[in-house]
Amino acid sequence: MIDLATLTIVKARKALDAKEFSAVDLAQAYLAEIEKKNKELNAYLEVFGDVLEQAKIADEIIGRGESYALTGIPFAVKDLILINGKKASAGSKILENYVASYDATVIAKLKKQGAVFLGRTNMDEFALGSSTENSAYGVTRNPHDTVRVSGGTSGGSACAVASSMALGALGSDTGGSIRQPSAFCGVIGFKPTYGRVSRYGLMAATSSFDCVGPIAKNIQDAEIIFDAIKGTDALDSTTITETTYTKVNKKEKIVIGVPWELINQDGVNSKVKNNFKEMVKNLESLGFEIKDIKLPNCLALYYIINFAEVSTNLARFDGVRYGLHIDGKNLLEDYFLSKGKGFGKESRRRILLGTYVLSAGYYDAYYGKAQKARVALRTEFTKVFSEVDLILTPTAPGPAWKIGEKSDPLSMYLEDIFTVTANIVGVPAVSIPSGFTEVEGKKLPLGIQFMASHGAEESLFEVGKKFESIKNKN
Ligand code: GLN
Repeated sequence: MIDLATLTIVKARKALDAKEFSAVDLAQAYLAEIEKKNKELNAYLEVFGDVLEQAKIADEIIGRGESYALTGIPFAVKDLILINGKKASAGSKILENYVASYDATVIAKLKKQGAVFLGRTNMDEFALGSSTENSAYGVTRNPHDTVRVSGGTSGGSACAVASSMALGALGSDTGGSIRQPSAFCGVIGFKPTYGRVSRYGLMAATSSFDCVGPIAKNIQDAEIIFDAIKGTDALDSTTITETTYTKVNKKEKIVIGVPWELINQDGVNSKVKNNFKEMVKNLESLGFEIKDIKLPNCLALYYIINFAEVSTNLARFDGVRYGLHIDGKNLLEDYFLSKGKGFGKESRRRILLGTYVLSAGYYDAYYGKAQKARVALRTEFTKVFSEVDLILTPTAPGPAWKIGEKSDPLSMYLEDIFTVTANIVGVPAVSIPSGFTEVEGKKLPLGIQFMASHGAEESLFEVGKKFESIKNKN
């Protein structure tokens, strides 16, 4: 019996290469776990039919002594990352039967290593939301308390890793969608610098914010996945090289900036505040210097740009070129019927608001102004990162909420307060489990988020490992 609860990618690699178990054994163990748990949790929208064939190929690579870091490692893939020949619906009815005709670059890279794809995971429709409640295929339940959400939008991927239904997963992060569900489920969620990982074959939500990244059980595993998927790509002109950003010289003592004013406001749950303060103390005891910094609330800025780009990106789903088509009396009626039936409420809301902020007469007041503010924020960040090495916040202002609890869109948007900033500026960020809080008799995971300057992923891995080491001691 393979102990999936304590298994990591590093441990699995050793065991696979030492032939303690085969990739087929491992895949079978995960399929059995999915069979047991997925009905209730709804992390996977589909489990692929060829998992064991993929695992056999991995075993052949291992047998030849040619294994890579991820050969035979079972992965869950968010439902908006294309795998050739597999369905990809982005959690939407409009793409219910869409089958990808090519591999996303991240998939091609993982395939080259012989990774095994178990299935595609649930998400908020087109990556719009924070809880998977906007999925057209039902909510993903939190493995720590099934009346609660797993977070979102990569809720299915985070839930799969947290509940031993995958050893690693790919998610996408536009404003927190890798980090927040990882915090809610008690796993690691890593958002790279914008452009470090190719977006080719990732369905676009907000093209200037979107990043593909790993969800894993510990920092080392996240680093291994990141190393496998990163790199420039001729198919995505926004990808950057390792040297695009000059390396900041490391000081003797690592300084961590904490935006106390933003964290101490009323909207942040007191249990989150207490847990955060405790983590800051832990970091001080590890020898890090903590410095008070100022960071603005960037939610309005984020949502204006998000609405604008989403409305533009979703225009391609017109019922003619892709997905669901419903015949009307004329072309205009075709559009109305196909989009009206195919898109859920949140997608329709953002298409409308995005079209509004981009329309003649309002463009300057909203979209134009938001772009200027974005430039100003970037300059501000450069200044902050000349004084501190890392920025620390909680990942989310509260633990996982109950399904249905946040029914108005605004209260859901407010949940993104700590995560959106990294996407606006394009810096890397990671959410790391910081313990549990007891709510109504259940232990719910919390997470803290570190942000680093552009291209400084390494320092996130470094501090993450140190932070994990104190947690493991406790
Ligand atoms: N919750 C944010 C939104 O609704 C972020 C989503 C994401 O990162 N894809 O836009």
